Amino acid sequence: MISPSTRELQALDRAHHLHPFTDFKALGEEGSRIVTHAEGVYIHDSEGNRILDGMAGLWCVNLGYGRDELVDAATAQLRELPYYNNFFKTTHPPAVRLAEQLCRLAPAHINRVFFTGSGSEANDTVLRMVRRYWALKGKPEKHIVIARENAYHGSTVAGMSLGGMAPMHGQGGPCVPGIEHIRQPYWFGEGRFSQGRDQSPAAFGRACAQVLEQRIQALGEDNVAAFIAEPVQGAGGAIIPPQSYWPAVKAVLAKYDILLVADEVICGFGRLGEWFGSQYYGLEPDLMSIAKGLSSGYLPIGGVLVGDRVAETLIDEGGEFFHGFTYSGHPACAAVALRNLELMEAENVVARVRDELGPYLARRWAELGEHSIVGEARSLGLIGALELVADKASGERFARTLAAGNLCRDLCFQNGLVMRSVGDTMIISPPLVIRHEQIDELVALARRALDETA
Ligand code: PLP
Repeated sequence: MISPSTRELQALDRAHHLHPFTDFKALGEEGSRIVTHAEGVYIHDSEGNRILDGMAGLWCVNLGYGRDELVDAATAQLRELPYYNNFFKTTHPPAVRLAEQLCRLAPAHINRVFFTGSGSEANDTVLRMVRRYWALKGKPEKHIVIARENAYHGSTVAGMSLGGMAPMHGQGGPCVPGIEHIRQPYWFGEGRFSQGRDQSPAAFGRACAQVLEQRIQALGEDNVAAFIAEPVQGAGGAIIPPQSYWPAVKAVLAKYDILLVADEVICGFGRLGEWFGSQYYGLEPDLMSIAKGLSSGYLPIGGVLVGDRVAETLIDEGGEFFHGFTYSGHPACAAVALRNLELMEAENVVARVRDELGPYLARRWAELGEHSIVGEARSLGLIGALELVADKASGERFARTLAAGNLCRDLCFQNGLVMRSVGDTMIISPPLVIRHEQIDELVALARRALDETA
């Protein structure tokens, strides 16, 4: 029996609240789960259920819930200076200090940051910056940005256009012109079964880089400004590329003098066991978009880390860049982000993901690969995926009408675990402070949901 207070909130929610990425009609029938409070890696709902948050909110609550240090940083800053902007010739200490710290942690050639309020705004900024860069270089025709199918880069018009999610493109278009999409390095979904058994992951990774090269040639290298991708594609299905992929992509981009943009909104801040996913793969991106884990999701903040090549051109040759947001580098958000980075360093979070938690999750997660409906269990650092299949040997998927992924996700939730589904790919991305016994609990709850789905 659902309590009257929950019922009341559900009714108000249904009447007035349009949720992101939600079928409003289905929401009306089911009613929302009302999350009321949280601590550590657990959220609690209004009916008294405790749920292990295997998604760190939306890939962001990296230091976990209930961190008083972050709350204190926000309140202290709100008392001292709740708002001021960074337009023209003003700034404030939290924005400056945060910029300094980010540039210290980023790859050596990155020494500037442009703040935004979110990851979507960061990617909008990226699109304008890369096109502005080439215009300043006297090559305005170099304007096309190549992105990947099934990628998520945000919900603003530019973010949605850079993203490769066809259902998004189909709503409220048209997309921003001059954006192209190529195949993702999705070995399980597009390499292993659809191209013959004799193709190795390494060959598939190189083949995906060749697709990039062919597209550049077809478009004309003089027309292509940049390639944008996540080091590991998150919302598209935790797609961990074969090791051969990034070196081959890097070589192609260098050959045609095309900028690399790493969307680090999910991979940044320790998720892959390095400060940035680019460092895990040895990338030297010209630009990196950041958000989410930057503040552990406690307050909204994002940004673009800008490499010297682009920054120096924008600064030396560009004059005023007519671009910015009221909340670019908001003082309270910046203060929380700064404290978040301090805590991550003090608690050695990144190295623990790399040396301890990531390897432990990999070992326990791989056990789920033995399950009768799991075609592949993969993980890297603290991001992981399970591929649900009807037939393990052939990799044949369940009929779409069964919506096995959604069923499994709902069963997880009922049993006390947040796991996300993208089609029939189940994803986890837990807080980076998860403990070994909580990883055990997560795996046990996932196994139970798999048993019930099967
Ligand atoms: N880029 C990536 C890789 C993301 O996963 C997301 C959000 O999930 C975004 C950009 C957009 O970020 P935001 O929701 O903060 O606008």
